[in-house]
Amino acid sequence: MKKTFWALLLIILIIVSCKSISDIAFKIDEDNCISCGECVNVCRHNAIVYDGDKPVIIQSKCVGCGECVSVCPKSAIK
Ligand code: SF4
Ligand code: SF4
Repeated sequence: MKKTFWALLLIILIIVSCKSISDIAFKIDEDNCISCGECVNVCRHNAIVYDGDKPVIIQSKCVGCGECVSVCPKSAIK
């Protein structure tokens, strides 16, 4: 009985953790972006690419490190 309780608790914690990670999704506000390219250069996961003259984040590659957020001079990444 005790083992079942702890197993269920572990499963719940794993599900909650996965949801939290998936909630970390950065997006670029096109209106504030000045296309300086700092975010593209800093991303070590190649998760930011240009779509025309504005960068976009490829969510499937982004690991949520936040480095792009810290270098953006216009605070355009949230
Ligand atoms: S949060 Fe990190 S991995 Fe995601 S786009 Fe920004 S720099 Fe790249
Ligand atoms: S760092 Fe900010 S302003 Fe520069 S290209 Fe990226 S999102 Fe745009």
